[in-house]
Amino acid sequence: MKTAIIGAGLSGLCAGYELSKKGIDVAIFESKNVGGLASSYHVNDYHIEKYYHHIFRSDETILKLIDELGLNNKLEWLKGTTGYYINGKIYPLNTPREILQYPHLSLFDKVKLALLVLRSKRKNIEDLDNITATDLILNVAGKSVYENFFEPLLRSKFGDEKDNVSASWLLSRIKIRSDRSLGGERLGYMMGGFYSLIEAILKEIEDKGGEINKKAVNKIITKNNEVKGIEVDNKFIGCDNVISTISPMALNGIIGIPMRTRIKYQGTVCALFALNERLMDDMYWLNIKANVPFGAVIEHTNFAPLNNYGEHLVYVTSYFQSLNNPLWKLSEEEVIKMYLNGLKNLFQSFDEKAIKWWRLTRDIDTAPIFETGFKNKVLPYKTKIKGLYLAGMFSPPNYPERSMNGSIKTGFECAEEVIGDARV
Ligand SMILES: Cc1cc2nc3c(=O)[nH]c(=O)nc-3n(C[C@H](O)[C@H](O)[C@H](O)COP(=O)(O)OP(=O)(O)OC[C@H]3O[C@@H](n4cnc5c(N)ncnc54)[C@H](O)[C@@H]3O)c2cc1C
Repeated sequence: MKTAIIGAGLSGLCAGYELSKKGIDVAIFESKNVGGLASSYHVNDYHIEKYYHHIFRSDETILKLIDELGLNNKLEWLKGTTGYYINGKIYPLNTPREILQYPHLSLFDKVKLALLVLRSKRKNIEDLDNITATDLILNVAGKSVYENFFEPLLRSKFGDEKDNVSASWLLSRIKIRSDRSLGGERLGYMMGGFYSLIEAILKEIEDKGGEINKKAVNKIITKNNEVKGIEVDNKFIGCDNVISTISPMALNGIIGIPMRTRIKYQGTVCALFALNERLMDDMYWLNIKANVPFGAVIEHTNFAPLNNYGEHLVYVTSYFQSLNNPLWKLSEEEVIKMYLNGLKNLFQSFDEKAIKWWRLTRDIDTAPIFETGFKNKVLPYKTKIKGLYLAGMFSPPNYPERSMNGSIKTGFECAEEVIGDARV
């Protein structure tokens, strides 16, 4: 039995890993970067993710995989400091004391914010799938907490879709981010980057005889509602099963039979700057309420040890919801210029001369928009076409937020479905 996998992101790689472990013949096809959204740049003598990544202690599946691959020695739990830029000033928001000192919320607001955090501890946050995050915040915590805290965060993550996002998504984020000790939050990161994880999965697949092809799948060939093969470089490759890990819209473009889906995606524009001096004092993640063309500034080397890189690494990032967004349409140089102007607005002492190099990555399908009602849009692994399976950011383990952990679990669970069907 041969299985072709479309996409070598974590969903595809982990489906391939699991299937090849069980002796199933696997061929993975990747049109862009092995590792997908979790892939890295190779600069000087190190690897650094194209998009900033870290994990949480509750990410059980990725932690188990890291262990299984013998990579525990590379995993560190690092202090991930966060702050908020508002009215020209940065406020650290890590410890209860810092939160109490934050001047843009009254004590009463902070009590109401704490009530919202308590809500996230309840078991069935998925029950709030039909309520918007905005309504929940306004009802539980009030207008001031919404305007002075959540609204800029929601805007930077979802743009014009911010008022459509579900309360389930919001509470899942609050839950994971409020799981911290009095000293602040610890986040997981692999020394050498998550590149080491991807390399180790690849090696396991190849050692078991699986193939990784750096080529796009142009078509899925079906006959009488059954998968017959795929088309790559205008050539037919026969297979019994196809696992598609690409967005449902991209799948529609290669399958001929429209796969109805109501899932909307958004894109990300993320610049990485290498600087010869630090940008922020001891701040990893800065959320921003200001008129700048990005939603967050993430200083990776205020999180992972600077010595591992020898230069300061700073991500500047935004999400976009429309292909007409200038951040998607403009040239890379123009986007960088916009970002630099924004950085100069926020950090008066920032000097462009500190930049050693920059890279920009943009993709249109980096996350589903987890709007209300998303729970009913989550796609099952099996489709109505015999032999066609779906596994990706739209699968059950990635609800109500996508993550590396979710995609790894998705890959494993989908592989189990394929194996189960092969036994019947
Ligand atoms: C900005 C950003 C920050 C993030 N931060 C974190 C974080 O801190 N922690 C965390 O856990 N997660 C984070 N994530 C999420 C995480 O990266 C993703 O959930 C996960 O990597 C998705 O894996 P996937 O395999 O499901 O999808 P993808 O990685 O999108 O893989 C799909 C692959 O299919 C390929 N493809 C598309 N069309 C074709 C075709 N026709 N033929 C062949 N190949 C094709 C694509 O090139 C892609 O490589 C972040 C994501 C982004 C964008």
